[in-house]
Amino acid sequence: MELTLRNITKTYPGGVTALDDLSLTIPTGMFGLLGPNGAGKSTLMRCIATLQDVDSGTITLGDLDIRREQDELRRVLGYLPQDFGLYPNVNAVTLLSHIAALKGLGTTGERKDMVEALLQRTNLWKHRKKKLGGYSGGMRQRFGIAQALLGQPKLIIVDEPTAGLDPEERNRFLNLLSEIGENVIVILSTHIVEDVSEVCSRMAIIDQGQVLTEGEPRQAIEEIRGKTWRLEADREDLPRLHQEHMVISTRLSGGRTIIHVFSETNPGPGFEAADPDLQDVYFTTLGGRLQEV
Ligand code: ADP
Repeated sequence: MELTLRNITKTYPGGVTALDDLSLTIPTGMFGLLGPNGAGKSTLMRCIATLQDVDSGTITLGDLDIRREQDELRRVLGYLPQDFGLYPNVNAVTLLSHIAALKGLGTTGERKDMVEALLQRTNLWKHRKKKLGGYSGGMRQRFGIAQALLGQPKLIIVDEPTAGLDPEERNRFLNLLSEIGENVIVILSTHIVEDVSEVCSRMAIIDQGQVLTEGEPRQAIEEIRGKTWRLEADREDLPRLHQEHMVISTRLSGGRTIIHVFSETNPGPGFEAADPDLQDVYFTTLGGRLQEV
């Protein structure tokens, strides 16, 4: 099964073109949608989830035309939006059972089994009777996944799910997502590059409503191998280095500043070849765009 977006465009009433003739093919598995704030990720997710319509273009899931067959799409969709509200005074079992009933899933007995299985799977079983208002950020996101998984969806959309999670909760959440991604399409929308490099088999980088790069993270990294260089720099040299080179990142390490530079050839004395990572791909891709404009 594939999700196919063809030439989709969305302009908001204020005049912002959030999606600009965007085309993308998303296969089964974990797909990372990377882009800076304002790139158009949430708009794209909402259009796929049929919460808003595009102005033009087509979106199909298998042979389902989702702009026309919205109810059919909703039946096979699991969605964890960016601002996911919870009823603070109910517990996980009650709310999940309620959502399952609203979705018209199964009999009372079947729903009970379904809810129990999902709470086990998302590691919330021992917290099932606790009020949701008392959940940590990680537990809340795992609950969000449990509700998204109700009804065995074929397409799961998670929008910026790891923002605000501590490292352990984030790991747990990403592991859960990648387990799910084995059989269905999971779109993980994020501005956090590590989320994508850790769990996604395919990805796209978008900005200003357009796809800048699409493919396998590993392959994208290989494409810039030999073109990334590292230098331990003094702070006072940073402005000059930014002027002279295409700096893709600066990081602090043990009180020193390490800069990564993109260059077809060795940029000069003191530079050594750097092992590229997805962060380098991301900044190179966006940096290239900044230079183009
Ligand atoms: P992202 O999720 O990548 O941060 P968004 O899809 O939220 O990007 O936003 C893309 C662009 O569309 C931004 O310029 C944003 O300001 C604009 N935008 C988003 N939602 C609305 C809206 N409801 N009305 C007007 N402009 C919007």
